[in-house]
Amino acid sequence: MRIVQKFGGTSLAGIARVKATAAIVYDAHQQGHQVAVVVSAMSGETSRMHALSKDISTTAEAREVDVLLATGEQASAALLAMELKRLGVDAFSLTGAQAGIRTDSQFGRANIKTVDSKRLVAAMQAGKLAVITGFQGCDEAGNITTLGRGGSDTSAVAIAIAVDADVCDIYTDVDGIYTTDPRIVACAQKIKKISYEEMLEFASLGAKVLQTRSVGLAMKHGMPIHLRSSFDNIAGSMVCKEDKNMETACVTGVPFNRDEAKITLQGIPDQPGIAAGIFAPIAEAGINVDVIVQNISDHGLTDITFTVTRADYTKTMTMMHQHCLNMKAKQVFGSNDVAKVSIIGVGMKSHAGVAQTMFQTLAQAGINIEMITTSEIKVTVVIEETDVDRAVTLLHTAFGLDASTA
Ligand code: ASP
Ligand code: MG
Repeated sequence: MRIVQKFGGTSLAGIARVKATAAIVYDAHQQGHQVAVVVSAMSGETSRMHALSKDISTTAEAREVDVLLATGEQASAALLAMELKRLGVDAFSLTGAQAGIRTDSQFGRANIKTVDSKRLVAAMQAGKLAVITGFQGCDEAGNITTLGRGGSDTSAVAIAIAVDADVCDIYTDVDGIYTTDPRIVACAQKIKKISYEEMLEFASLGAKVLQTRSVGLAMKHGMPIHLRSSFDNIAGSMVCKEDKNMETACVTGVPFNRDEAKITLQGIPDQPGIAAGIFAPIAEAGINVDVIVQNISDHGLTDITFTVTRADYTKTMTMMHQHCLNMKAKQVFGSNDVAKVSIIGVGMKSHAGVAQTMFQTLAQAGINIEMITTSEIKVTVVIEETDVDRAVTLLHTAFGLDASTA
């Protein structure tokens, strides 16, 4: 098999972990697989360097920030290559640029344009093992660029696609994706196989295990991702194309996100352009809006409610107060103690009444739903944060996701 293995920061945090990681790589290589490895910086390093650059200036030159941040991955790649060599593997490190990763010139959030994989493929075929720095590439002018936080997942998937690997193994400190957070629901189960679409929903709901971009890229090219732990030698979760079996269960998981705040604009004139007017300044400020609900109008007036992350709440409220004055809206109000709970599953496409079961379950528990949105494979409700644990536990049971204790 041809395998690209990616190791995250906790798998490389300190020499003991570098050695444990090298042992995993060594084993795969010994088994006769063609292996290339992508690494991220030791945990905490990227943030530490970010802070250093901020100590110089909060608006430090973006090109130089990238040169600095990219060093974290270089340190891990060199150390892992050294240890693999010591074990007798013909290993060598490569920077993103050396590995042929070309990006655009958006420092700090560059997009990969092409991966020239000739050197990598030749090395793999010759039994050599490249240890490549994730999170970075270089632009046309040869400048070092970085891909945004968590970007080494995307590097790994892009490299796996470019070398036509059979699988991209992403090693992290959790052993897969669970039906919900096991800290809330003890009987949550590992999802053995999850479709890209479902994984994208999980990722966008704050499951931080995989960078969302990497899942989108893998989906586009049909690259299977095996999400697994470098701390345990057990099978993790396979993120892959949807298959028939996946549709038999109507709900795959119950992810939630507490980082939500909601804002309502009440009594705004219902005319073309109102939504555009409200959301333009928010977008300009770089604030992400999540759930949006607009009511039908009454006497030419309507209400719009939307959610943002808690960190953006105060700033958005201030902007909306100003906007309402300009628009002669009746009032603006909001709260930053709401949360979002979703049920996700590709099986929903072929099962009726799934949303109803969700609403019924919450109603029986006296949990008030404040907002609802749906997609083909997801139903999301916004509820009070204090109700989250109860809602998630009840929904997990209602959709038959509890692990049997028998
Ligand atoms: N080291 C980078 C970060 O912390 C990239 C990564 O870990 O994926 O964001
Ligand atoms: Mg990561």
